[in-house]
Amino acid sequence: MAILPIQRFGNTVLREKSKRVTTISKSIQQLIDDMIETMQKAYGAGLAAPQVGKSLRIITVELPDEEPFALINPEIVKKSGERTVTEGCLSFPGYRGEIQRSELIVCKGLDRNGKAIRIKATDLLAQSLEHEIDHLNGVLYVDYLENEEKLEKVEAPEYPMV
Ligand SMILES: [Zn+2]
Repeated sequence: MAILPIQRFGNTVLREKSKRVTTISKSIQQLIDDMIETMQKAYGAGLAAPQVGKSLRIITVELPDEEPFALINPEIVKKSGERTVTEGCLSFPGYRGEIQRSELIVCKGLDRNGKAIRIKATDLLAQSLEHEIDHLNGVLYVDYLENEEKLEKVEAPEYPMV
């Protein structure tokens, strides 16, 4: 396992559309393990492969008091409702902003062994999944802000960093 450097805002990898994973090789599983370790070290609730410089459709998520998990080639198949959330991004440290996220999402993908999984999510889990899947499409939460003044500078993050 290894801690990977987290790519910051401005790096072009964060704006690319990531490639689908076709084979879950040993190196893909190693990347997943490294992403989980990196996410935990950064106290993140989620991490997307482009954030560690890999343009691949892989995300990891970990909610407080729950086991971390990975989702390969994740897709949101349904979303409904709207709510205002405070959000931050590990690739954009020191800032947070209020944006709109869905109340409920259903997403599907593969686990680290290639087994198909489907997740129905609300609250932080839904927020984290939406944020990470956006990363795979080159979308950042700051894109949803009305203007730059909506971005708030903060010292210690207590909001979800994803
Ligand atoms: Zn992020």
